[in-house]
Amino acid sequence: MERTLSIIKPDAVEKGHIGDILKIFETNNLKIVAMKMVHLSTQEAEQFYAIHKERPFFRDLIDFITSGRVVVSVLEGENAVAKNRELMGATNPQEAAPGTIRAEFADSIDANAVHGSDSLENAKIEVEFFFNNQLAAL
Ligand code: AMP
Repeated sequence: MERTLSIIKPDAVEKGHIGDILKIFETNNLKIVAMKMVHLSTQEAEQFYAIHKERPFFRDLIDFITSGRVVVSVLEGENAVAKNRELMGATNPQEAAPGTIRAEFADSIDANAVHGSDSLENAKIEVEFFFNNQLAAL
């Protein structure tokens, strides 16, 4: 059993796709074990995405993720990290396989509907970031 962190980004929240995306997780054996809706501050977003701070797209990434509310959830299941990434599809929606979340709901590489942890190690860090003092209860 693994746990991974998912974020439904402002574009998908704004377009009313929260339910569609959560349904995809649930029908693919990813159980939602924690969830909240938040509007990240610039400082929180910069901390969350610190790993990308030298990348040319960093500013755009921060501007976008702070542009509206997001839904953050912890997904649990067998191979949850890889399974979630498979369901999300490629970062660039134009390269995302048909049937994936990004192929279906994303508009661009910035407005790409979802974030998912890229490794088990980062999943632990990201779950801790959003659900730090509730971990014991999960
Ligand atoms: P992560 O999801 O943690 O890999 O965060 C990177 C995010 O930055 C992606 O999900 C994209 O929304 C955004 N992004 C914008 N431009 C790029 C790019 N050239 N390569 C990778 N990610 C990009």
